[in-house]
Amino acid sequence: MSDTLAPVRPGKLIIDGAAVDAASGRTFTTMNPATEEPITQVAEAGADDVDRAVRAARKAFDEGPWSRMKAIDRARVIWKLGDLVLAHADEIARLETLDNGKPILESRHVDIDMVARTFHYFAGWATKLSGDTTSINPAWATYTLREPIGVLGAIIPWNFPMIMVGWKAAPALAAGNTVVIKPAELTPLSALRIGELALEAGLPPGVLNIVSGKGSVAGEALVRHPMVDKISFTGSTAVGQHIMRTAADQVKKVTLELGGKSPNIVFADADLEAALRGVTMGIFYGKGEVCAAGSRALVERSIYDDFVAKLAERAKKLVPGDPLDMKTRLGSIVSQKQMESVLGYVEKGVAEGAQLVAGGQRQPVNGKGWFVQATVLAQVQNSMTVAQEEIFGPVLSVIPFDDVDDAVAKANDSPYGLASGVWTDDVKKAHRVSRALKAGTVWVNMYNFYDPGMPFGGTKQSGFGRDLGPDCLADVTQAKSVFLNLE
Ligand code: NAP
Ligand code: MG
Repeated sequence: MSDTLAPVRPGKLIIDGAAVDAASGRTFTTMNPATEEPITQVAEAGADDVDRAVRAARKAFDEGPWSRMKAIDRARVIWKLGDLVLAHADEIARLETLDNGKPILESRHVDIDMVARTFHYFAGWATKLSGDTTSINPAWATYTLREPIGVLGAIIPWNFPMIMVGWKAAPALAAGNTVVIKPAELTPLSALRIGELALEAGLPPGVLNIVSGKGSVAGEALVRHPMVDKISFTGSTAVGQHIMRTAADQVKKVTLELGGKSPNIVFADADLEAALRGVTMGIFYGKGEVCAAGSRALVERSIYDDFVAKLAERAKKLVPGDPLDMKTRLGSIVSQKQMESVLGYVEKGVAEGAQLVAGGQRQPVNGKGWFVQATVLAQVQNSMTVAQEEIFGPVLSVIPFDDVDDAVAKANDSPYGLASGVWTDDVKKAHRVSRALKAGTVWVNMYNFYDPGMPFGGTKQSGFGRDLGPDCLADVTQAKSVFLNLE
């Protein structure tokens, strides 16, 4: 563990096989939200650096070797990158916790494992991608080639920085694309480190480039670059809309993974102890800065009062702590701005008539940090702001419902449709409700579970396209039809 105590090195851009400074020499400071102290300096990419990264990716794609390599050789390199993430688990997890404020338990024992499994899972797909042969005319030989798209730009948020690198890079690389990733300004460190490890794993120069910098500069330059074939974006709906509009000028392909206001529905016939744990974890895991957070608990009226009381009790026990302490379960909000936004929503909820039954306050740890208590708002109506808008913090809105139809109607009464949860012991009800929910993911008697083998993405204003699972391969490849005249 000694390397986990080392001072954090300044972050460098990963461009064309090397860790480099920005052409301008500019850097920015990345902060630790739990201590309000600087962690280190990070190279700040300008449009010229993005251009260099994109040209390197273009060259690596057009001239090889990556896109021309045997699939099994691509697979070996991607697999090795998964191994290297595991070999540097303590170091990367610490960077993530310092940068983001999330508990080290989550970075070290959940996020690292997810990143490694994502590289390992998609390494296997490199050799399994295939087109089809079709029999439409005996005079022709007809088949499809499943080809990589080319240069993929990925723009990622601050809530799961290292996981997002895995989700965006692994399937794209397995399919033979080259990639340029723009990490969030607040949390660049783990992505830059994984970019270095990718070179160690044997990714050829230009295949995976990481350009830390401002969304309005580096992100914008990536979206506008004519040599980028596709943008895969995860973040806020507002920026996603802007990217989609900008990309339209070049008819650039886009997939968007945006926000959510996911319902977690508890029926009276559920195992209520399990539901209580699942609802609590569904909102407070990751400080609620989780796009799929179960931020609306819909609870059947007959058990509502009792369930709310128990939720409040559990929330009060979940006190913020030092994110680097393995015992901590609630870390610091990512920034002061985000903390103020979260607290503003709590005030608004109370002003609109919700009842604050737990938390609701900032609670510094050792006198510092942007920590917010685990917060529960009861007597929430689905039309209230706190039930309609994504808060992106540890704030649960608890809404009563009367029967299955009422639960489904309230669950679907949202501009978003990312994820959802159902707690019931009635298997028919579980299946019926799963079909009726407008969401990319439904968890039944569980919440917030992910696997590289299962697709993740949204419906409605939560976006379109999928990360993970066999389905995401359609978003990083394109089919080419070949007709061959046999006569
Ligand atoms: P955001 O602004 O959408 O940031 C996501 C990424 O987009 C970041 O890398 C950001 O760079 C970049 N970006 C910003 N403006 C851009 C532009 N004009 N062109 C290209 N890229 C651009 O999200 P945020 O400010 O971090 O958070 C705001 C809200 O978004 C949150 O409160 C939450 O509601 C939502 N959010 C959702 C998710 C999710 O997983 N669905 C994740 C994070 C946030 P910078 O870091 O430099 O801004
Ligand atoms: Mg930071």
